[in-house]
Amino acid sequence: MIVILTGAPGAGKGTQANLLTERCGYATLSTGQALRNQVKEGTEIGKIAGEIMDRGELVPDDVLFKIVKAELGAPSEKVFLLDGYPRNITQAETLSGLSDTHPVAVVIELYVPRDELIKRLSGRRVCSECGTNYHIDMAPPQKEGVCDKCNKEVIQRKDDNAESVAVRLDIFDKNTKPILGFYEQKSLLKRVDGVGSTEEIFERLKGVIESI
Ligand code: AMP
Repeated sequence: MIVILTGAPGAGKGTQANLLTERCGYATLSTGQALRNQVKEGTEIGKIAGEIMDRGELVPDDVLFKIVKAELGAPSEKVFLLDGYPRNITQAETLSGLSDTHPVAVVIELYVPRDELIKRLSGRRVCSECGTNYHIDMAPPQKEGVCDKCNKEVIQRKDDNAESVAVRLDIFDKNTKPILGFYEQKSLLKRVDGVGSTEEIFERLKGVIESI
């Protein structure tokens, strides 16, 4: 069954998806991370996606569907966490088309106010290898510029510059927010407060998923 983790850029979806995977053993697909891997590997999808992502815009729906379909695998009772998909109504409808084999059990909106999102995104840093997230003030790596987990370089994402952040927040409002109404109508939407310590937010999310 599918659990969708949604929310604005900077809401902490990636950090929490990593924790939920590590600690609860859920299968997870972060579409942003999957695309960044394709860009790094220089694949056909990576070539299409790279510049679009740097500008903060959405990668075409058919590309995303190829990635999601390939990763979902066989139907399973186990939780499959989707981080960053769907991001618009077309993608939500496409996913509904798979509901016979991969039903959506719950959609969790991680809610963070806009001024806090901007603070988080401007200070965000990320491991170039394993994707672990850091923040220059709130959660720096132990050694500056080096990942605590895999010792590789910690960098700023290309799309965390002021211009791309503004585009991404606008796209969230215009394209992604409508999916909240789509799932609310299906009584699948739960809102979780995304402000607090990483541990507090983790417990809130775990509580929602375990209550399904
Ligand atoms: P994220 O890591 O979730 O912030 O995603 C980074 C970027 O990847 C986004 O700004 C988009 O360019 C692209 N991306 C990730 N997921 C999707 C999606 N479901 N649909 C379209 N583009 C996506």
